Amino acid sequence: MDCRRIQRILADYIEDNLSQDTTKAIEAHLRACEVCAQEYHRLLRVGDLLRQWAPEVPTHSLWMAVRGRLAFGHRRRRWWRYGAGAAAAALLGIAIWAMNRPTPPPPLHDAQAFYKVHEEWSLPLQISRRITLLEER
Ligand SMILES: [Zn+2]
Repeated sequence: MDCRRIQRILADYIEDNLSQDTTKAIEAHLRACEVCAQEYHRLLRVGDLLRQWAPEVPTHSLWMAVRGRLAFGHRRRRWWRYGAGAAAAALLGIAIWAMNRPTPPPPLHDAQAFYKVHEEWSLPLQISRRITLLEER
């Protein structure tokens, strides 16, 4: 066997996947050929390193607990986002409504009725102004 063929099946040799005859032929070649022997030791080291770096597999129950928390947190966050958004939209709507409160159409033919309606309409504003004045005292 030539070196290229040997090096192509070195991984199989390391994992003991070859026939006895092929295994014996490779062992004979590795004793005689320094290039293939170096390649063989490099592959062995790579395998060792990969085994060192292999992440620990979490237990099934640990994974289920993590997944449950992720799902719960996700759902709760989404609910809060919707809730806060709805509350903000409602507050904004109330603020806009309060700023643009429709002025009752002035009955031009009756000045007294106009002032009465206007006074009733502005009563909450007057009360809040009085409260502000009282608080400032
Ligand atoms: Zn060789």
